[in-house]
Amino acid sequence: MKRISPSPVYLQNMAMNLDDVDRKILRELQRDGRASFRDISSRIDVSTPTVSSRVQAMVDVGLIRGYSTLLDAEMLGQVSVALLIEAKPSDLDKVVEKIKDEEIVRQIYVLSDSRILCILAFYNQVKYQRFLESLAQVPEITSMDNSMVMRVPKESPRASLTDEAGLMIRCYYCGHMMKDEGVKIKLDGKYHYLCCSVCERLYREKYEKLKKSAGTLRPLPTVQSEHPVANSTH
Ligand SMILES: [Zn+2]
Repeated sequence: MKRISPSPVYLQNMAMNLDDVDRKILRELQRDGRASFRDISSRIDVSTPTVSSRVQAMVDVGLIRGYSTLLDAEMLGQVSVALLIEAKPSDLDKVVEKIKDEEIVRQIYVLSDSRILCILAFYNQVKYQRFLESLAQVPEITSMDNSMVMRVPKESPRASLTDEAGLMIRCYYCGHMMKDEGVKIKLDGKYHYLCCSVCERLYREKYEKLKKSAGTLRPLPTVQSEHPVANSTH
């Protein structure tokens, strides 16, 4: 088998962490997701290309997951309900699988005490009743409790940008939290993060296998590497 020549970019401490500029950019974007790079650049006093490259890097790493529009649920005549679902710890994932694609379910939090908190929003009471009835048929659910949301005095994005907010990336292969070192590889135009060269090799093999089984015949990109992968001390 032909060895794929990797093109790893070894991450440095700084590449893994958010600095003040990143946090300022994120705060501006959280405040106004439509702000242009130029707007942000003038507000926080850094150049537009800096804003652009920082945002791109944060998109690549998966920290910026997208931009959405915040709507007023009440203006849409919707009622919100907090629903607490209880299940055995080993069944929580199964329950989440069953509810996560329902339109009526807006947010799901898996809690430490083997419960799931869902925020539901709906216009039509009948749909809500049907949803509750469908949950009653799920054998994994041991109990349920619900309360109508009367008012929402605060509704902020869940990620809070405090000064100490740093970046935590898990190795795409073994799932370990990456600290100071890691390998960033680009496959099919997307970045993938691996904690060491062993994980990198295994991940590439797995990736290639998955691609083959998916019927994709495009080879993985082969780029001449300036940094040959050293034998790992895993
Ligand atoms: Zn790993």
